[in-house]
Amino acid sequence: MPIALGCIADDFTGATDLANNLVRAGMRVVQTIGVPDGPLDAQVDAVVVALKSRTVPAADAVAQSLAALRWLQAQGAAQIYFKYCSTFDSTPDGNIGPVTDALMDALGCDFTIATPAFPDNQRTVFKGHLFVGDLLLSDSGMKDHPLTPMTDANLVRVLQAQTRRRVGLIDHRAVAAGGGAIAARIAALRAEGVGIAIVDAVSNDDLLRLGPALRDLALVTAGSGVAIGLPANFGLAPSPQAAALPPAAGRRAIVSGSCSNATQGQVQAFIESGGAAHAIDPLQVARDPAAVEAVLAWAAPRLAQGPVLVYSTADPAQVRAVQAQLGVHEAGALMERTLAAIARGLVADAGVRQLVVAGGETSGACVQALGIAQLQIGAQIDPGVPWCHARAGHAALHIALKSGNFGGRDFFTRAFEVLA
Ligand code: ADP
Repeated sequence: MPIALGCIADDFTGATDLANNLVRAGMRVVQTIGVPDGPLDAQVDAVVVALKSRTVPAADAVAQSLAALRWLQAQGAAQIYFKYCSTFDSTPDGNIGPVTDALMDALGCDFTIATPAFPDNQRTVFKGHLFVGDLLLSDSGMKDHPLTPMTDANLVRVLQAQTRRRVGLIDHRAVAAGGGAIAARIAALRAEGVGIAIVDAVSNDDLLRLGPALRDLALVTAGSGVAIGLPANFGLAPSPQAAALPPAAGRRAIVSGSCSNATQGQVQAFIESGGAAHAIDPLQVARDPAAVEAVLAWAAPRLAQGPVLVYSTADPAQVRAVQAQLGVHEAGALMERTLAAIARGLVADAGVRQLVVAGGETSGACVQALGIAQLQIGAQIDPGVPWCHARAGHAALHIALKSGNFGGRDFFTRAFEVLA
């Protein structure tokens, strides 16, 4: 069966965020890590290809995105969705504009929309201006982002600097008035020669009203919010089947390399609940080549009793002290390598088949070390963090990849309860 929706996401956790929204709206979804080598071997409604193209040079981002497009077309995708960050992370060089232009050219499409609106996550667009919570994008922390500082909240202007097509606006009056008004506005913009329209949306109702108006577009570009209104165009409604995964079994473990506030609280809560936990000291790991084996030997006898936690999670003062000794980059890379090797050992040799990984970069390293090529997306544990099912070598396992600040305080215990 051909897939309905083919999605191209410009980073890994953004891909999961989109996949999670599609599942909640009724689609069965697989997320692939990069562009797969062969054809899809799963029965799903949508595939999200996770790229790492947000901050690479524009020509690389275009090449990666076109490769993803060709693969998705080969799987029969009826509509293409280009997913970027809900803070529209980009520079005048790209990559949102150049990738959108290249996808439109390849699809022979003369009109698409662009909106990072994601009201559930406090990202709203009004009169073409993006708000992060109560602040204009340009007044938010994004103005100081190291790679993609966002100093202008006017998305029509921001996108116009990145594309050779004319950029226009479908403003809130049309979106609030619903399908007919949105269609009329699209027709008017097309007649004016506009190729890409920023869309206002301040609520999920706006996004749900927008959905039907997008039915005939070959390409949609957006954050993950627009996804909630698309499955209905394919006759799909929210259902538990969309999130169904094979039954879970096997040993349970958590590997945490995130030092974010939420994760610190989750580690604390897990220890307070009496869970078996092993802290990793980066300085000791740097000295001891057998550190990974020692952790695996610690974990082995404890896994039969319940989930075990291995963590390098530390507070800012501890992290700074480690970075001062090892260097910022080397400290991060060392912990990512170490935790990834531990995750691989837990799965390959210790029977772990239910794994929670905390940390965005840590998740990327673990997925790579486990040799995971694609994830079937299941039910969400907390907003933005679903359980997934994946093949890792010859093991099949359930895995949840939690980016730093996501998840409630009891996430590390509740995750396994949700799965059971
Ligand atoms: P988050 O999603 O919270 O940002 P990441 O995994 O993306 O988490 O990033 C955390 C970074 O900090 C990783 O590079 C990780 O290897 C590194 N790290 C983890 N523990 C420590 C520690 N104790 N000291 C220094 N760096 C650490």
